[in-house]
Amino acid sequence: MGASAARIRWLEVAVPAHAEAVEAVSEILSRFGHNGIAVDLPIDSRGGADHTVKAYLVEDGDAFAKVSDARDALGHLQAFGLGPIGELAVRTVDDENWLEAWKASITPVRVGGFLIHPTWSDVGSGEALAIALDPGMAFGTGLHPTTQQCLEAFAVLRLDGARVLDVGTGSGILAIAAAKRGAREIVAVDTDALAVDAARENAAQNRVVLDVHRGSAADVAGTFDVVLANLVGPILERIAPDLRARVSAGGSLVAAGITAEAEPAVLAAFAAQDLRVRERSERADWVRLILTP
Ligand code: SAH
Repeated sequence: MGASAARIRWLEVAVPAHAEAVEAVSEILSRFGHNGIAVDLPIDSRGGADHTVKAYLVEDGDAFAKVSDARDALGHLQAFGLGPIGELAVRTVDDENWLEAWKASITPVRVGGFLIHPTWSDVGSGEALAIALDPGMAFGTGLHPTTQQCLEAFAVLRLDGARVLDVGTGSGILAIAAAKRGAREIVAVDTDALAVDAARENAAQNRVVLDVHRGSAADVAGTFDVVLANLVGPILERIAPDLRARVSAGGSLVAAGITAEAEPAVLAAFAAQDLRVRERSERADWVRLILTP
């Protein structure tokens, strides 16, 4: 007892996951975890099951019920055919200073002219393109290669004064980045209510105005100069007509989250909508396309 009674113990929950399942696994763990999701990405990924998503939670009376709920949710995910997802492993992290150490270990990420930093780190006011986002929030903390590919696409898009639609906004990172690059009107949609809440919070935190709704491209009216869609291949394929309908004449569609394996089907779906590939980038087996009508 004594001093040790006040000691907080943490559980580390680790799930090996295929590249395509990483975002979905992160989202599930973020519902149960404290405020940290760490994704270990392999240096040279070929899209295999060599990622590990880790979450941390306080070892209290509810912890094992939460782990069991997470296991069930992961089982459901697997049933949807996303994956493969490995066995969830739990270990105790016996370090009272772990949270502070973890926070200190999160360093700002510089990508495509943006500086993405956690809300607790101060990067100074001189950074025009700083974006404050906490790891462990719903999808999109700037570290995923597909998010980086989208942010890098901003360099070749005209965003100043543009109308932008972000389909599958997650944390809102791309929509916030578009606002920082001078986009005039930004609509962001996500089918996940948790992501909608997160995107709204993050927009307020970053002092940008976004119009965030629950839904998808089919639920939005009008056309946009830039449509962003960092989803997965099969979803891009399925909603290709809805995405096409939102792109204005002279506008662009940025489609990302496509594995090399899924690419032919996605290309065929876009070609059927008369969308032409203007640029293609590939990183760690992830393909990003920029298309125009
Ligand atoms: N835009 C962020 C997040 C991408 S993760 C980034 O670039 O980092 C993909 C997001 O798409 C998730 O938040 C998921 O909930 C959402 N999503 C999945 N299917 C969707 C669909 N059919 N329409 C809209 N959003 C969808």
